[in-house]
Amino acid sequence: MTRYGAQYGPDVTFLGVDRCDLSDESTYARADVVVLGAPFDGGTSHRPGARFGPQAIRTTDYLPHDGSRPSLALRTDGLRDLRVVDAGDVEMYSGDIEVALPALEAAVERVARAGAIPVILGGDHSIAYPDAKGVANVLGHGLVSMIHFDAHADTGDVEFGSLWGHGQPMRRLLESGAVRGDRFLQVGLRGYWPPPETLDWMAVEGFRSYEMTEISRRGLDTCLTEASRIATDDCDGVFLSVDIDVCDPGHAPGTGTPEPGGLTARQLLDAVRRLCLELPIVGIDVVEVSPPYDHADITAALANRVVLEALSAIARRRRDAAGGDAYDPDRPLLER
Ligand code: MN
Ligand code: MN
Repeated sequence: MTRYGAQYGPDVTFLGVDRCDLSDESTYARADVVVLGAPFDGGTSHRPGARFGPQAIRTTDYLPHDGSRPSLALRTDGLRDLRVVDAGDVEMYSGDIEVALPALEAAVERVARAGAIPVILGGDHSIAYPDAKGVANVLGHGLVSMIHFDAHADTGDVEFGSLWGHGQPMRRLLESGAVRGDRFLQVGLRGYWPPPETLDWMAVEGFRSYEMTEISRRGLDTCLTEASRIATDDCDGVFLSVDIDVCDPGHAPGTGTPEPGGLTARQLLDAVRRLCLELPIVGIDVVEVSPPYDHADITAALANRVVLEALSAIARRRRDAAGGDAYDPDRPLLER
C-alpha cells in the first residue's frame, strides 16, 4: 500500500469513514463518494492557512467519529447510505503550484473514472481548476456546469504576475474548455473585486453572477431556481464549488479573504441541500477554510456540515429516485 495519508498531522478520515488508497483501485471501485484532501494554500493572495483546512473539515464535529451521520431533516445517513471512503490528502507542496495542481487533477480524474463523486476538501480556491477539470476530463469538456458559491468571482487573469492562484481558477477552467462560460453560475458575490474589465470579460463569456444585493432583493431560492435551470441546460452534471467566504465573516471568520455582508450559515446549508437534492452533482469542493484564523472552530464546523448536507441530500435524491415518498420539507419532521 502506498496511501499517502495526511500531509499534516495524523492520518484520519472524514468522520471516521473507511480509508481507500488511490493507487489501489480495488479499494474504491464500488465507492459512491471519495473524499480527497487538498492541503494547499500556495495560491492565496492574502492570509494563508487553508493548507490546514482538510484536517479541520474532516474532524470538526462533536459527535463520535464513527462513519455514520443520520440527518435529522433528510432521514438519510450520508456516510452509510452512500459508500463513502477517504483517500487521504494529495501531496501538494504549497511552494510549487505548477506541480501541485496537476497532481490533484490526476487524483480527481481517477476518482471520476471509477464512477465515484469526488469531494475535495481544500485548500485555497486555486484547486477548483484541477477539481472541475479532473471531472470534466472524464464526463466530457463542456458537459459539466459549475455552480460556484463565493464572495469573489475568481476570474482574474494575471495576478501577482502569475496565471495560477486562488483568484483565477474560473477563468482558467473556461480557457481550458472544461466548463463553458455560459454554464458558470456564481452565487454570493460582493465587495470591491474584480475590476470592471474582468466583469466585462465575464459578461462576454456568458457568466451569470448573483451579487448579494440581488440575492437579498429577489431571494436566494429564486436565484437558485434560475441558476439550476441554466446549469442543467445541455449539461450532464453539475460541479458544486463552495468557497466558505461566501458566508458572512461572522459565520465564517476562518478564511483568507473575508468580505462583509455574506450569506448566513443557514442559507448556505439550505442551498447546498437543495442543489444536491435537485441536481445531478458530479463533484464538490469546499475551500478556503483557514484554521489559524478561525475562532471556536466556527468555520471548520460549518464546512464539515456543508459536506454532510451535500452527502445526506445526494443519498436522499437516490432514495427518492428509487421510488417511495419523496422528501418534502413542508411535512412535519417526525412524519417524514
Ligand atoms: Mn474563491
Ligand atoms: Mn472567496
